Amino acid sequence: MTVLITGGAGYIGSHTVLALLEAGHEVVVLDNLVNASRESLRRVERLTERTLIFVEGDIRDRTLLDQLFSEHAVSAVIHFAGLKAVGESVQQPLSYYENNVAGTLVLCQAMQAAGVTRLVFSSSATVYGDGHPMPLHEGLPTGEPTNPYGRSKLIVEELLRDLADSDSAWSIVLLRYFNPVGAHASGQIGEDPRGIPNNLLPYVAQVAVGRRDCLAIFGSDYSTHDGTGVRDYIHVMDLAEGHLCALHALAERQGVHIWNLGTGQGHSVLEVVKAFEQASGQAVPYRIEPRRPDDVAACWADACLAERELGWKAWRSLAEMMADTWRWQHNNPDGYR
Ligand code: NAD
Ligand code: UDP
Repeated sequence: MTVLITGGAGYIGSHTVLALLEAGHEVVVLDNLVNASRESLRRVERLTERTLIFVEGDIRDRTLLDQLFSEHAVSAVIHFAGLKAVGESVQQPLSYYENNVAGTLVLCQAMQAAGVTRLVFSSSATVYGDGHPMPLHEGLPTGEPTNPYGRSKLIVEELLRDLADSDSAWSIVLLRYFNPVGAHASGQIGEDPRGIPNNLLPYVAQVAVGRRDCLAIFGSDYSTHDGTGVRDYIHVMDLAEGHLCALHALAERQGVHIWNLGTGQGHSVLEVVKAFEQASGQAVPYRIEPRRPDDVAACWADACLAERELGWKAWRSLAEMMADTWRWQHNNPDGYR
């Protein structure tokens, strides 16, 4: 089938494009390259020995979307496009609501007009909010995200539920990601953040490769086994394969379906640093700093529903996540540049 992938040049998008091409699907990517490089998709084409269609443009551009749907027989959309930096979302809330919420609205309007009613949306564990016991399962009520980025994800989830309620033609999957890390095993594509990385793994990798001096660990006084924050890190290729399963599930289901994509296991910051040092053979100097505002102590998934209903399970280990991150960073010290 032909699948439109918005944000397909980005980190998770490029790995998912690769998985879809390898599975024999046709892919159209729409990306405005605000946080990505065209080079990621050139490498995907080389790795898969397949071609894809790339459209440089914005999900907020209704005319472009109408044209795209009229030119390509799109059966389903996987929607990654959006802004994702939590701190920036506090500084620039309007950009976040415009790209993430208004952008999704325009995309859905264009899909409806074109009769394309299958959608997979990139949501996040952040929609659960704080205060639930771990692990987080899909039956829990959503909470109150603490920043505009998280709120934009929750608003879109609600918008998509209303849409599916209004018309049984829609079938929509909300995938709640935990902490995607790692890279394709080739070391050719990976995460390439612009500026100073906000997330743990890209920062660790840049310290190891000599681009930064020292990792700041945000807090060592949490109520976790070693005092540092615990998260559910999931290999980006496991995540990509989860999208493939979700795409197949869409064909058999109506309405809205929610699946966590995580491993079901939590690892602390110190465990991650140690695992990275072992996998890379590089030292990662660190210092302890105060907690980052709004960080939770621990967050991990109950990943049983996706296994039961999609037949999907994340199988790559923490060691593999670290080895693949290092291969990518070592081969590409400056990312795609
Ligand atoms: P990314 O920034 O690498 O990818 C997003 C892509 O969307 C980029 O290629 C960017 O250029 C593009 N884009 C942004 N705004 C656009 C617009 N208006 N029109 C067209 N293209 C646009 O981020 P990612 O890590 O690959 O994340 C993909 C999705 O998954 C995002 O929606 C993100 O919020 C969500 N998510 C990510 C994480 C994570 O930790 N990486 C966790 C949970 C959810
Ligand atoms: N973290 C850290 N130093 C960094 C970045 C992150 O100690 O430079 C910690 C952070 O406090 C959290 C964990 O690493 O406990 C994962 O953070 P990340 O931002 O990657 O994911 P999120 O907190 O959004 O789940």
